[in-house]
Amino acid sequence: MDAVAIKRSLEGSGLRCTPQRHALMAFLSECKGHPTAAEIFEAVNRMDPRSSRATTYNNLRDLVQAGLVREVAVEGRAARFDAKGIRHHHFICDRCGKVEDLQWYDVPKPHSGSLGRRILRECELIFRGLCSKCAPRQDSRRSGSVRES
Ligand SMILES: [Zn+2]
Ligand SMILES: [Zn+2]
Repeated sequence: MDAVAIKRSLEGSGLRCTPQRHALMAFLSECKGHPTAAEIFEAVNRMDPRSSRATTYNNLRDLVQAGLVREVAVEGRAARFDAKGIRHHHFICDRCGKVEDLQWYDVPKPHSGSLGRRILRECELIFRGLCSKCAPRQDSRRSGSVRES
């Protein structure tokens, strides 16, 4: 995302485009992985040491609430964040906690009756299991036809 796109998406979500929020969005939209809040603070602070930890965390929360940043909750570990513009699903490894992106496909929405008065914003999937590093190697060697799905 370039500077103009970041400004537009912040203001489109009703957030003021402060230098600190801009720096957060710029870092997160370029970031390939899913950093924790602490990692985000360190990285942004390295580029622009103006914002405090509290400001960074508050801004991060504002961006999540505005729907610009996704918070991926990993049980028992620090939450991870993602602002990649492209829609995708997530795979979380049970063993190492790594969060990986999976290609997007549309998910069937729940029956409107089961939602009641709730308003659905998004419908995304989290897959859980073992990442390719943690999956036992022998299995894939034994059955030669294991395909990555
Ligand atoms: Zn793993
Ligand atoms: Zn992601």
